[in-house]
Amino acid sequence: MESARELSFKDVRIGPGFWGDRQGLVAEAVVPYQWKALNDEIPGAAPSHAVENLRIAAGLSSGEFHGFQFQDSDVAKWIEAASYAIAALAAAGRRDPELERAMDGAIELVGAAQQSDGYIQSYYSVAAKGKRWTDLEWGHELYCGGHLIEAAVAHFQATLSRKFLDIMLRYVDCVDAAFGIEEGKRRGYDGHPEIELALFKLYRVTRDERHLRLARYFVDERGRKPCYFDAERERLGTGKRHRMLELDYFQAQAPLREQRTAEGHAVRGAYLYCAMADYVREGCDPGLRGALSAIWENATGRRMYVTGAMGSQAYAERHSIDFDLPSDTAYAETCASIGLVMWAWRMLLVDPDSRYAEVLERALYNGVLSGMSADGKRFFYVNPLEVRPAVDRARQDHEHVRSRRFEWFGCACCPPNIARLVGSIGGYAYAFDEASVWVHNYVAGSASFPAGSGNLILAVETDYPWEGLVRIRVESGEGVERALRLRVPEWSLGPGRGFSLRLNGEIVPAPSMERGYAVLARAWRPGDLVELELDMRARLLYSRPELGEAIGLACVQRGPFILCAEEADNGPGLHRLELDPSSAIAVAREDYGFGPSLRAEIGGRRVILPPPGAPLYGTEPPAYEPCRVKLIPYFQWANRDDGEMRVWFRTM
Ligand SMILES: [Zn+2]
Repeated sequence: MESARELSFKDVRIGPGFWGDRQGLVAEAVVPYQWKALNDEIPGAAPSHAVENLRIAAGLSSGEFHGFQFQDSDVAKWIEAASYAIAALAAAGRRDPELERAMDGAIELVGAAQQSDGYIQSYYSVAAKGKRWTDLEWGHELYCGGHLIEAAVAHFQATLSRKFLDIMLRYVDCVDAAFGIEEGKRRGYDGHPEIELALFKLYRVTRDERHLRLARYFVDERGRKPCYFDAERERLGTGKRHRMLELDYFQAQAPLREQRTAEGHAVRGAYLYCAMADYVREGCDPGLRGALSAIWENATGRRMYVTGAMGSQAYAERHSIDFDLPSDTAYAETCASIGLVMWAWRMLLVDPDSRYAEVLERALYNGVLSGMSADGKRFFYVNPLEVRPAVDRARQDHEHVRSRRFEWFGCACCPPNIARLVGSIGGYAYAFDEASVWVHNYVAGSASFPAGSGNLILAVETDYPWEGLVRIRVESGEGVERALRLRVPEWSLGPGRGFSLRLNGEIVPAPSMERGYAVLARAWRPGDLVELELDMRARLLYSRPELGEAIGLACVQRGPFILCAEEADNGPGLHRLELDPSSAIAVAREDYGFGPSLRAEIGGRRVILPPPGAPLYGTEPPAYEPCRVKLIPYFQWANRDDGEMRVWFRTM
């Protein structure tokens, strides 16, 4: 099948609403805050030193390198997020000169830190001089380079300035000269995938075949026997690996065409699978496509939380085995959910089937957004589905779990990653080809699709995902013939549920459905109005029985949101609550003081605490009292007083 084309974030204007609010927050609060964090100007936050490292590498400051080898990537992701913020402001006819100055300064700093042959990474320029490309397993050189390339592409698209792109083209020349199958080049690849997807992205801007060849090389080479990393370890004399950090941690246990399951470090995996999807999209490689589909089925069918989080194991931040998804010790890194959104999006472009959009939505509205506080100044790295703060403080195996978001992290991959995803969210809503326009995600604003010599412009009015009504008006595109394909989420379908579709006020009886999309094909006229009304009634979700952590339990979903209970609404001891599946779930809009939200209530019961002297174990069954269980969207937890949180509940 022909791949669909994505609509650039530049062709999507985001209006007021759920995403408009968040993009505004990112542009006005998150991006400026993160620039301060990267410059170590947030009192009490973990130091970053990321900007200072580049200054030292550029010879503008003296001192020592601090932080991880991949500290440059935080600056890269920040420039990418700043580029989207500046584009969004420009689309609204606004500018932020201070932000522009900071972004230009950051780009100039990266340029100044670049070595004469194009190489960039402050760690190897300052702390490990002369050791370039010697530790690909852990050095993160190409990982940082990949993020800088992504940032340069975003900056070019946002501003049309080639300043940063040209810096990164020289970098890619340096990488191209060092890596490949040709005589005299290294046949290595980075321990942390990222450069692969970045090179595919670059290729779509430059159409330079060398960039495509290099991207393919990195995908093809990974996992080839004998393994490059093994030979490297021998040279370095680093000895045996920990069993959790074997080759599968790097997705290098076998050539990618032979892999069938999602293994190893969850973020690395997601970024790599993005590149595999890009490869399929560009090259139609049948061998890779089978592997990609199998890994997708495994990752999303057996190794994904109900919140769209992945990587259940804290140690090595990695996938466990099938159906091993503990709620309370979950690692569930924000970046892994971001990676899943990016991966699902690429799958959707290769094969426009709503099954991929369902996963994208699950991850986006739950596991990703939970990573950031409502004010945009605090962040979760780890996104558990059950929290008891006292337990987390007491237990070694909960050390990674927190009930409060952090101001910053020593390893700060997640905060700027959310900023760049939210900033570019318009790019994850639409796709098109000669015959169709797909609306995968409902975002208030407008979108402009190339159509012949003109454009088909759609204006979208919606309060999605708070409400289920989406109104799409054709603004221009007289006579443009396209099948408009509107995603009808899986949660809006099924027994007793449904959706309605109207065209110019007339109900469309039994609309044609293809692969999860309601299809309206016609020659469009300005003023045409399509109204889609989704079924937002909350419902209970159950897991497959193999998932031991959730067997016999249920959680509540409302629209795309997975809901959770917090101590702030239900008191302590959330584990004593049970839901009544026969109870109607009442949902109302609510403002708890941190922006728009909702309150759901379901009938249930609570186990009554016995008197203090009761034996620890006894023959008396528990006694119950009826109660109403109050729930809020999972992504908004921990914006109020510190306390317990829980997603899964026993049912009566
Ligand atoms: Zn992260």
